[in-house]
Amino acid sequence: MSSAYPREVWKQIETLLTLVRSGRAQTRPELVDETGLGRNVVAERLSTIAALGLLRPEDEARSRGGRAARVLRLDPTAGHVLVGLIGIQRLHAAVCDLDGTVLARRDVDWHVSQGAQETCTEMARLLRALAADEGVRDVWGATVGLPSSVDPGSGLLVDPVPSTSPGRWPADFAVQDFCAGLLDVPVWVESAANLGALGAARSLQVQDLLWVRVGSGVTAALVSGGRLHRGGNSMAGALAHVALSSDQDRICLCGRSGCLEAYVGGWALLDEAQRAAAVGSSRHLAAVAARRPVTLEDLAAASAAGDPASVQIVVRAGNALGRMLSYAAALFDPSAIVITGNPVIDDQRFEAALQRALQTNLLPALADGITLRAGAPGGADALAGGAELAVRSLLSAPHLAVWAESGAPRALAGARLSAAV
Ligand SMILES: [Zn+2]
Repeated sequence: MSSAYPREVWKQIETLLTLVRSGRAQTRPELVDETGLGRNVVAERLSTIAALGLLRPEDEARSRGGRAARVLRLDPTAGHVLVGLIGIQRLHAAVCDLDGTVLARRDVDWHVSQGAQETCTEMARLLRALAADEGVRDVWGATVGLPSSVDPGSGLLVDPVPSTSPGRWPADFAVQDFCAGLLDVPVWVESAANLGALGAARSLQVQDLLWVRVGSGVTAALVSGGRLHRGGNSMAGALAHVALSSDQDRICLCGRSGCLEAYVGGWALLDEAQRAAAVGSSRHLAAVAARRPVTLEDLAAASAAGDPASVQIVVRAGNALGRMLSYAAALFDPSAIVITGNPVIDDQRFEAALQRALQTNLLPALADGITLRAGAPGGADALAGGAELAVRSLLSAPHLAVWAESGAPRALAGARLSAAV
């Protein structure tokens, strides 16, 4: 095996790895059919893949009428990847195998306003400790997810973290270089929203997906044709501050009025719930407020119990998000829309209002083809997406050409890496 292979050869190896990994072709005859490559070429490329330790010995055989052919599978334990998600108030660390299965995970409270260096140092410390506790020594790479869009060219953040000062990260802080220096493995950096979309698309086995997270704010991300769609300014999916109405009473945190976030964001819902408690329009929430501050969980519970004022708040939010998503869906035609985030979106009335808005605004042929799903709980989609991004990038032609000869992806550490997703 040699990195002196022409680029075309690495491309063929990447294609075979992708087919075997996805299960679309798993025997030599299937790979020959699917790729149009000659039998000898396929055999040669598979021997390179085997020499990298990527193939699992497998006895199982599959017949298409003639002689049974051995089923090829990648060995998910050939290496491991680390995934670190930096949220505004929490860090999530995971060790995954090459299938993206989470082998161990740890979540800790931490606020990003403690600083860029401090946060990345803590993230790296968590990841290293988790790998050590699991006895994992062959770490091939890592993905760090951020609560911000990332420019894939420069690796710099596109929007500020956190979005409000104090403690705002310097705009020129290079997360990728800093984390690669601490972890001594190749590191990819991506927005957590994009990682969520990638993980959800893989678990639902769809190529075109719209992913929406309704937390305190609203973020969205797109997978198109199986790949992330980042957009010309790395800002695709920034729906939060598109105005839904000219309602001057709906003042948004951005200073304008009528934004989607001012209807659906956690802060906006909490504001409405507290007002309903204060003026007594919700007896349910007023009773809670007499004992302690009202939370989004209280609003969701009050709505689920049929409290009219709470139902009105939740239905209005579901309708607002549904209207906005119908515009996005009309343009993008996703197979699935995945929604995750604060407790209110789990309310059946929220989902029903959202579904109704989609049905009302979209042609049946479009609306009926969209699967509406709740995201996996606890950030599991983004962790899976982080593992997928690292593995797909490590097994992509340009990166294989660099690390295959040395036998370990550490050769990529410190290099300016692009993501192959
Ligand atoms: Zn706004």
